[in-house]
Amino acid sequence: MRALVLESFGKLAVADLDEPSADADEVKVRIIATGICGSDLHGYSGANGRRAPGQVMGHETVGVVSAVGPDVTRDDISPGTIVTVNPVVIPREGIEEFTGREQHHPEKWVLGVAQEVVSAFAEYIVVPERNVVPLPYTMPVLFGALVEPLAVAVNAVRRAGITKDDAVLVLGGGPIGQSVILALQMAGVERILVTEVLPERRDLLTALGATVINPTAEPVNEAVRRILGRPADAAIDAVGASPTVNDALSSIKLGGRVCLVGMGQTELTIDAFSVSTAERSIVGSFTYANSDFQAAADWLAGAPGKAALLISRTVDMDGADDAFRSLEEHPTSGKVLVVLTPSLVAEGVIAERNEVLT
Ligand SMILES: [Zn+2]
Repeated sequence: MRALVLESFGKLAVADLDEPSADADEVKVRIIATGICGSDLHGYSGANGRRAPGQVMGHETVGVVSAVGPDVTRDDISPGTIVTVNPVVIPREGIEEFTGREQHHPEKWVLGVAQEVVSAFAEYIVVPERNVVPLPYTMPVLFGALVEPLAVAVNAVRRAGITKDDAVLVLGGGPIGQSVILALQMAGVERILVTEVLPERRDLLTALGATVINPTAEPVNEAVRRILGRPADAAIDAVGASPTVNDALSSIKLGGRVCLVGMGQTELTIDAFSVSTAERSIVGSFTYANSDFQAAADWLAGAPGKAALLISRTVDMDGADDAFRSLEEHPTSGKVLVVLTPSLVAEGVIAERNEVLT
């Protein structure tokens, strides 16, 4: 089978690898398309230290079941079922104890991060049956690759303790910030502000239903008060750098909560008094529980038109290395997906997006 191997930092090569087979309770999935995540870009450059040469990355994926192992018991999965894959894998024995917080299992591993596991930038992968999530045929197939990033956002919204009447500030309108806007809307939130420095992303963010703040034109905390007439109730930082965390803290009410989901810097310098004397909290968010992943899948299964806005373009395997390199230098407005099985992708999603934005 063909796979995109991280040959060295800054270089993805199409390699020929042995096709895996489904043993025991594993499901073999033929990958249709896999999204390029910010963490993959940092892995590609070597910046995050969480990917290594020789690895096949990929964790935001959609595919079709091609075979099931002899011990698979689920009756909602069989060859031909369209599926996405929850990349957070925990031991079978831990499932009951860690229900609702699977990501906290000390022995969890993550598909696309675990360096020894061939992940979704390959034509085939095998995963435990419990990590496979079936999707309806009525959903545009590429939406399946959006389930994982949306699940990240669903968990972040939950961790931030947000309720539907809150006014929420999102820091950063890249792919994570865009998913956060959709996850806030899933939670019924109507007043959403988002900061974004790149002009080419602002139309997209407006089309998603958020009010865009340009942090280079006006201090963010002043812009929030000008727009809302008061501070925001909560903030979700999809950048994760000292300036954005401080903007988040100074833009929300006393006692408010900031959820840190972006990982832009490994160390932060924050204004301590804007936490202590203002009784604000900062909480972290990284992956998601199974229930968040399923909620994201269920919402996308309804084929919401807005989801198409999140996909900027698709590339094939031979174009992937160029796409990674250019994304590092020039971020696109939304997400880029690598299509591994072009015959199973309808072009309609991209056409629909372009129609909305033009
Ligand atoms: Zn990701």
